[in-house]
Amino acid sequence: MKKILIAIAILSAVVVLAQSGGDRRQAEPEPVPVGTGENGAPPSDAIVLFAGGDLDNWVRVTDGEPARWEIADGVATVRPGGGTIRTRESFGSIQLHLEWRPTNVISGSGQGRGNSGVFLHSLFEVQILDSWENPTYVNGQAGSVYLQYPPLVNAAREPGQWQSYDIIFTAPEFNGDELVSPAWLTVFQNGVLVQNHVRLDGATFTPEPVYEARCEPYGLDGSGRRQDCTGKMPLTLQDHGQLVSFRNIWLREL
Ligand code: MG
Repeated sequence: MKKILIAIAILSAVVVLAQSGGDRRQAEPEPVPVGTGENGAPPSDAIVLFAGGDLDNWVRVTDGEPARWEIADGVATVRPGGGTIRTRESFGSIQLHLEWRPTNVISGSGQGRGNSGVFLHSLFEVQILDSWENPTYVNGQAGSVYLQYPPLVNAAREPGQWQSYDIIFTAPEFNGDELVSPAWLTVFQNGVLVQNHVRLDGATFTPEPVYEARCEPYGLDGSGRRQDCTGKMPLTLQDHGQLVSFRNIWLREL
C-alpha cells in the first residue's frame, strides 16, 4: 500500500512539472565537493597565503624583496617602515578571508590609529582601522571601501581583539584597453555584512577613482611604474606606519 502511495505521489509530481512548463531540475554540472575547515581552518580548496609560519608568499611592493614584517607566535605584524607587501601570485575574482588586530596600545586618533588595509587587485582598499570609539570620516573607517563607501554598520571590536574580514571580490573585466565590467565587493566584518555588493568607482588611492588598462598599483608612491592591469593582480597589505597584526589569510579563486 505504501509503495502504491509513493508511486502516486511521484506520478503527481511529474504531472505538476509537466503542467508548469517542463522539468527544470539539472543533473549537471555537479558541484565539486569541498572540505570545510573546522575551528576557522581554511576550506580544502583554499590558497593559503599566511598560516603563521612565514611570509614566503609575500614580497615588498616597492622592490619585490622578501616581506620584512615581524613574525612571532604565528602572527605577522606590520613593521612600520618595513613597506607595504603584496602576494607573489596574482588573482582574479576571489573569496578572501583574513584576520587582523590593531595594537591595544592606543596612540594617535582618526586615521592615525591602527591603520592598515587590504587592497583587492592591488587597487581597491578595504580599510583596516581601529574604529572602536575612534571617529574619522565615515568612508575611511574600518569596513569602508576607502573614500567610496562607508560600512553599513560599525562592527569594530575593542583594540587588541582579533577581527575578521570575509570578502567576495569580482574583478573588473577589460576588452583590450576598454573596461567592460567594473569591480564589485561584498564584505563581512566579524560575520556582519558591512558592504553589500557595491560597485567600485575605480582605484581608491588615485586623485580620482579611475580604471586604467595600464595602471600603477598601490604602494609604488607615484613612481610612474605602470603595468598592464587588465588581467590578474596581486593582493596587497598596507604598511601605514602603525602596528596591525595579521593571521589566517586564505583565498579561493572564483
Ligand atoms: Mg589604510
